[in-house]
Amino acid sequence: AVPLVVAKSTSLSAQHGLLIKNRTAFENARKITSIVFDKTGTLTKGKFEVSRMVFTEGVLKSENELLKLAGALESNSEHPIATGILSEVKKRKLTLPEAAQFKAITGKGVEAVAEQKHIKVVSPGYLKENSISLPVNFKVASNETVVFVLIGEKLAGFVALADAIREESKGAIATLHENGIKSILLTGDNKQVAESVSTQLKMDGFFAEVLPHEKLEKIKELQQQGEFVAMTGDGVNDAPALAQADVGIAVGSGSDVAAETAGIVLVNSNPKDIVNLILFGKATYRKMT
Ligand code: ADP
Ligand code: MG
Repeated sequence: AVPLVVAKSTSLSAQHGLLIKNRTAFENARKITSIVFDKTGTLTKGKFEVSRMVFTEGVLKSENELLKLAGALESNSEHPIATGILSEVKKRKLTLPEAAQFKAITGKGVEAVAEQKHIKVVSPGYLKENSISLPVNFKVASNETVVFVLIGEKLAGFVALADAIREESKGAIATLHENGIKSILLTGDNKQVAESVSTQLKMDGFFAEVLPHEKLEKIKELQQQGEFVAMTGDGVNDAPALAQADVGIAVGSGSDVAAETAGIVLVNSNPKDIVNLILFGKATYRKMT
């Protein structure tokens, strides 16, 4: 039987934006020494807005041309970057070309055929790996997530997007610190953004440009250093790492796979709810002993 105090606590936690799927997860919450946070949608609002666009002269003729190609591909994606690009398309009332043979490039972007050309929308990491040089004088601001549009292997331009940090994030990280718990950022996004978010929130470190299959390794590394690790994640890609973590926390309206793997579901994606969970777990088991 489930002790009454635990049963009561878990139902209370449901009112606080958490679904605890198994008792072990709740029991383990009080032992957490490090929390690995995903960025988009958990520490940030997860609402990307296009901040600027730069097209390559001689390849394209306008920003709108660049945006239409990107938009055609992103119509097939549910990534927050796709949502940001498509809302700019809507704002400019553009009509998108058809895209066929759509494929996701896991952790790096998307590709498809549009206007009879092979188009990709990809991360800075993808350019590096394929030795495609960045535009001359290319610079990103510390809050910019940048995706590049390629026609074949040729750089057609880039779209910069910005996302805002959630109001509650800084307080949540500070409370974790007060309780001796470290917080680490883990993201597929570029180093500048990761460093900026991690610094602004006074986190203990960050891992940037991490591919989905590498997330699991980062969790293992921390565990080998003796940390008892919680991890938040939303995507299908996050499931193996969530399973590896001592406490897996699926976030918000993300994938069902993540929610199935995790022991805890964070309904409102609010980092403050994680803090409450840990303190709550500590208090609950203190009562029992
Ligand atoms: P995270 O979940 O940490 O944000 P992802 O693995 O989802 O990381 O994405 C990593 C990077 O891959 C993004 O920052 C972006 O550069 C690129 N990417 C992924 N999906 C898309 C997409 N639909 N369109 C453009 N770029 C994408
Ligand atoms: Mg993700």
